[in-house]
Amino acid sequence: YTGKTGSQLLTEKIKKIKVAEFTSMPVVVQESSTVYEAICTMFLEDVGALYIINKNGHLVGVVSRKDLLRASMGKQEINTIPINIIMTRMPNITYCYKDDFLLDIAHILIDKQIDGLPVVKKSQNENGLEVVGRITKTNITKALVELAHDEIL
Ligand code: ADP
Repeated sequence: YTGKTGSQLLTEKIKKIKVAEFTSMPVVVQESSTVYEAICTMFLEDVGALYIINKNGHLVGVVSRKDLLRASMGKQEINTIPINIIMTRMPNITYCYKDDFLLDIAHILIDKQIDGLPVVKKSQNENGLEVVGRITKTNITKALVELAHDEIL
């Protein structure tokens, strides 16, 4: 018997959860895509953010729902403006790795007031990051529900 309270055990368990256990599939678009195409992709794929990649498949940007709404409000032509004009770009993208702790990601999402992060891995050959997943507030909510469920059993 370890002498640990239930709450200490639960805290330890929460701190051990890795990003990999709760990551979702990322939705990516090429940086040459138009804003209109990005809007269609966001609706069809039912996600809150798209990750933008270059020809080498490396992460270069992020667009959120509000970025696309903002771009649609102006007088700009959404059928012709490329997505890389309006995206949040490197080096301003916050990302994470599969081995990171989910609790650290939760803190980052709160601090930066964003809904999610791309999960990346370093590219084999060249310098650059490949997008391998996404982690959002929804994934963190799922983790919470799973923890509560484990306690009941
Ligand atoms: P929304 O803008 O739809 O409320 P977010 O809160 O996630 O969605 O995004 C807020 C802003 O932060 C947007 O301009 C978006 O481009 C940017 N953003 C979203 N995710 C990231 C990220 N992982 N790294 C850097 N900026 C991000």
